[in-house]
Amino acid sequence: MRLVYERLCQHLESLKLETALTHLDPVLEVATREQQAPVEVLERLLQIEVQTRFERRLKTNFMLSGLPMKKRLEEFDFEAQIQVPKATIQEFATLRFLNQGENVILIGPCGVGKTHLSVGLAMRALDEGFRVIFTTLHQLVAKVEQAQLSHKLDRLLSNYLRADLMILDEVGFLPLKSAEANFVFELVNARYQRHKSMIVTSNKTFSQWEELFPDKMLAVALLDRLLHHGHALHIRGESYRLKHRREAGLVPNPTALDT
Ligand code: ADP
Ligand code: MG
Repeated sequence: MRLVYERLCQHLESLKLETALTHLDPVLEVATREQQAPVEVLERLLQIEVQTRFERRLKTNFMLSGLPMKKRLEEFDFEAQIQVPKATIQEFATLRFLNQGENVILIGPCGVGKTHLSVGLAMRALDEGFRVIFTTLHQLVAKVEQAQLSHKLDRLLSNYLRADLMILDEVGFLPLKSAEANFVFELVNARYQRHKSMIVTSNKTFSQWEELFPDKMLAVALLDRLLHHGHALHIRGESYRLKHRREAGLVPNPTALDT
């Protein structure tokens, strides 16, 4: 009997089922005490291993995602921001768009919650075990410049393609140079062809996107890919923080400040 037990431990070890190995004794004790069927014992032991691995993967995915903050959709005050349709966000939160390879594009002025909503959706995707990558356009441009110097643009691109969901935040804060614009187009195009979702946020309306690109046709082609299977949400409200400060009487003239 002891020999069988030792061999089992060795098997678990050589298969790298470390968590199952750690939990073997308590699982066997419960099994004996409760006279469990062999199938139940095996299921319990492997379930512990699978669960632990999943949780580990979630942690790693979160660390690799580059999310700038840990904001949940539950923390989003829909009553304060009536321009954001709760039902639409709840529908996005089911992650059907992600399974279908569709995009979400959030357009609106500063402070209305675009990044919060993107991060909230990203956290939902992470909870389900998806790989997520978050970057602002500004960060992406810096990486493109670096990668150009070291001739590693291909590697950078494949890194952005690997994630199941990519968030490209703050499109529109700066106009792009030719090489950067080409990279962004290539990225959007490659994700489009692979049916991999993106969430894009911008403070510029689509007609203004042309000004961000050195070549108007590139902007048109990029928007074409992005919107083909895309849900665009225009948020026209005022900045959440400004609104609160105004309500607290700290900002006397909203129209002068809320630009
Ligand atoms: P944007 O990306 O549109 O500029 P953010 O998502 O960065 O705006 O929002 C600015 C700050 O205000 C963040 O801390 C965000 O969590 C908060 N915020 C914005 N809108 C809401 C809201 N409706 N409910 C709760 N917090 C909000
Ligand atoms: Mg933002």
